[in-house]
Amino acid sequence: MKQMFIGGRWLAAQDGRTIAVVSPSDGEAFDHIPRGGAHEVDQAVAAAREAQHGAWGRLPATERGRILVKIGEAVLANQEELAQIEARDTGKPITTARNDIKVLARYFEFYGSAADKVHGETIPFLAGHQVSLLREPLGVTAHIIPWNYPAQMLGRTVAPALAMGNATVLKPAEDTSLSALRFAEIATAAGLPAGVLNIVTGLGEEAGAALAAHPGIDFISFTGSNEVGTLVQQAAAKNAVKCVLELGGKSPQIVFEDVDVERAVPIIVRAIVQNAGQTCTAGSRLLVQRSIFDTFVARVAQAFAQVRVGTPAMDFDCGPVMNPAQLARVQRYIDQARAAGIAVLAEGKVAADAPKTGFYVKPTLFGPVPRDAALAREEVFGPVLAAMPFDDEADAIALANGTDYGLLAAVWTENAGRLQRVAKAVRAGQVFMNCYGAGGGVELPFGGTKRSGHGREKGLLALEEVSTTKTLVHFHG
Ligand code: NAD
Repeated sequence: MKQMFIGGRWLAAQDGRTIAVVSPSDGEAFDHIPRGGAHEVDQAVAAAREAQHGAWGRLPATERGRILVKIGEAVLANQEELAQIEARDTGKPITTARNDIKVLARYFEFYGSAADKVHGETIPFLAGHQVSLLREPLGVTAHIIPWNYPAQMLGRTVAPALAMGNATVLKPAEDTSLSALRFAEIATAAGLPAGVLNIVTGLGEEAGAALAAHPGIDFISFTGSNEVGTLVQQAAAKNAVKCVLELGGKSPQIVFEDVDVERAVPIIVRAIVQNAGQTCTAGSRLLVQRSIFDTFVARVAQAFAQVRVGTPAMDFDCGPVMNPAQLARVQRYIDQARAAGIAVLAEGKVAADAPKTGFYVKPTLFGPVPRDAALAREEVFGPVLAAMPFDDEADAIALANGTDYGLLAAVWTENAGRLQRVAKAVRAGQVFMNCYGAGGGVELPFGGTKRSGHGREKGLLALEEVSTTKTLVHFHG
């Protein structure tokens, strides 16, 4: 039975309610977390405010940075334990979980090192005046994260906020709160003062909604679905606070006839099966020039058929999906595409000895998928790849831009001019050229265009999102 972390103390929910923690690998409940709500969110926001007004807010940037770097080191020192927790909670292969913990550490290292390198400016103005632009923390920042990469998401959103001197309240996803809770212990032992990171566990519509609407917060970072992102933005608007939204995606892999096939195929397969397709940046659309469509897609199908799905300990290409609702959703997309007569070109294999009670789905490659099919436009958030042909560069760009989303894209061609032209024409927050980077890349500013959201996380740009400026105008004669 776990507890929440508020103001440096471990607490149950005031009313004693809990949520079962279920392993996606076998469907069994193996722990409980508190079901916090408005009361606990109040406490957490008050604790964060106190810390931000107090010692934490006054700490020199160098000292703040040092603490964050120490937290990164402490995460690495506890990497295996955290990875085991993460793998059990999410069902992902243990190697993936280990990498996720490394990325968590990397966020604290990166932003810890950056904390004392963000400067204000001076601005030339009227004679006899001195103008300085100070960069300041926002105050109390709220962070609501999803279940697909719990540890990475924590690092991505909390580390830059702390680096800029904010105090934080985190609402992890109800399915995956365990790594955040263990992280809080590790961070505290590494020197993070009480109240600087508060973790309220609970349901989205209770704890999450209470946090988003809380008048005491100064900023919201939300990563998750479009539906909830809209609610969060409405709540932010009511309190006139800024929010960064990282929402869904339907990212295209745009493959031209002069592609380096050997290089592209394994990367393309990995970009959709990684994390069982539950990656906002999953490369879920395979757009291939018509002249090579059959041969190239056949090569992808060959590799796709080798994909194996299993438990974390089996450490295959991917694990189960997160929960029964997600399983039903992904299976529905697969069933509807089959029923519509869209050809299945390849399927991965679920390990015969994977528990029958787990939430396993067969990775599936469909093609050619009609451009108006649900599979071509909607985010499945599962290991389902939709292959579609295009005619020429202009058609490729129109097809790539033809969904509501604009998160990531990749262009595959040996023609340097075409790489640049297409990359510039595609609407996305990141474009990879002859490579792909779902996840990772702590240094690389990341975020959406269109319905994929707004604002930027990762890289140094994230520090601007979680801070504000104050202009000082001094008449000195
Ligand atoms: P979700 O929106 O259901 O939940 C995300 C978080 O919001 C959870 O912590 C949940 O408890 C909370 N929440 C739910 N209802 C809420 C409410 N009414 N008010 C406030 N908070 C609430 O999303 P999910 O199912 O956990 O994640 C899947 C979605 O997230 C996919 O659409 C995926 O593309 C997206 N995602 C985006 C990124 C990105 O960086 N762009 C990363 C990961 C996931």
